[in-house]
Amino acid sequence: MATLFEKIIARQIPATIVYEDDETLAFRDIHPAAPVHILVVPKKPIENITAASAEDINLLGKCLLVCRTVAEMEGLTDYRVVTNNGAGVGQSVFHLHFHVLGGRSFMWPPG
Ligand code: 5GP
Repeated sequence: MATLFEKIIARQIPATIVYEDDETLAFRDIHPAAPVHILVVPKKPIENITAASAEDINLLGKCLLVCRTVAEMEGLTDYRVVTNNGAGVGQSVFHLHFHVLGGRSFMWPPG
């Protein structure tokens, strides 16, 4: 069954899309945890980092560069990029995604 993010990629569910290319999509998180909170996803349905394979190496790098692109588009110089890998650390949508968070200060380490 298609995940929520596959449905957003397929335009079956609306989202505020801020960037798209042939391999990735970026859209605003519906429950923003910061003034800027964008999700960057590969269009290829990979569950998470654990499920990625060696053939995904370029796609994973591409996702990180798209994180930089959307941060720049939002006027951010300082920002956090996070991926939750597994339900035990908070992954709720099992389609790989990178949270790009900015516009406020953050604690380290995260709680
Ligand atoms: P995770 O918990 O898997 O790391 O992150 C999933 C993210 O997806 C959460 O931050 C959550 O707010 C966001 N989210 C859940 N449902 C929707 C939705 O329908 N649209 C959008 N744009 N974001 C969603």
